[in-house]
Amino acid sequence: MTLRGKVALVTGSTSGIGLGVARALAAQGADVMLNGFGDIREIETLRKEMAQEFSVNVLYDDADLMKPEQVRAIVKRSQDELGGLDVLVNNAGIQFVAPLDEFPDEQWEAVLALNLSAVFHGMKAAIPGMKEKKWGRIINIASAHGLVASANKVAYVAAKHGVVGATKVAAIELANDGVTVNAICPGWVLTPLVESQLVVRAKESGTEVSDEATKLLHEKQPMLKFTTPEAIGAMVVYLCSDDAQTITGSPISIDGGWVAQ
Ligand code: NAD
Repeated sequence: MTLRGKVALVTGSTSGIGLGVARALAAQGADVMLNGFGDIREIETLRKEMAQEFSVNVLYDDADLMKPEQVRAIVKRSQDELGGLDVLVNNAGIQFVAPLDEFPDEQWEAVLALNLSAVFHGMKAAIPGMKEKKWGRIINIASAHGLVASANKVAYVAAKHGVVGATKVAAIELANDGVTVNAICPGWVLTPLVESQLVVRAKESGTEVSDEATKLLHEKQPMLKFTTPEAIGAMVVYLCSDDAQTITGSPISIDGGWVAQ
């Protein structure tokens, strides 16, 4: 239990990677603020089960992180109701796929608002408290698309490259404040975000979702294996450990060799 007494906010933690990260932090004893959308009863069950399983405080807040004031509010609520904010995992993200010359303006705005601006507003709100405590961990979930591009994902790729850049700036500014700032850059992780892309692809090409999953891996990753949310959670826990205290400003790939090519 290396994180007993620490408080973590994991954005977008009602499903996928965020949920894996929240569970991994709770398993180490951290009190956790959950966030994201979904069925309110299912989320309440999830919250209660996590609190019970790991004997930690778990709260849920339905902040819409596309709205800067709600980003600030969830950071403040974590501090006020859980007793501080030691670990901020900026994870919430969305995807939209279309060629650049057909990319809808409102989708550009939405992807940038959540995938990039919310990361900025979250870090800005959390940093003063971490500096005061002289301890903090900020982990931004970027993507392989924070390091390389793919066609038809202009907003996502631009936002994730931005996240990697903002991570580096924050890391430099906080280098001697006991606060580390890193980005994790996953390759394919089989979550609802990817599953919805697979469903569209299967419909368009008249194939099965499982065929498209195999094709997806072949297109990008030398290693034909999905990364799990649990593996991302384990990396977040490591970045919170004392052993990782000099790792800062790093985009850390967990991507089956995607960006090694
Ligand atoms: P997901 O769709 O399973 O989860 C996204 C989470 O964000 C959900 O909890 C959702 O409710 C929440 N969310 C959506 N809009 C929100 C908003 N406006 N305000 C607050 N919460 C909101 O997706 P995922 O695959 O787990 O993705 C998590 C992060 O990992 C994203 O930033 C994504 O870009 C990144 N990522 C995913 C993959 C992958 O292959 N799945 C790869 C690289 C990076």
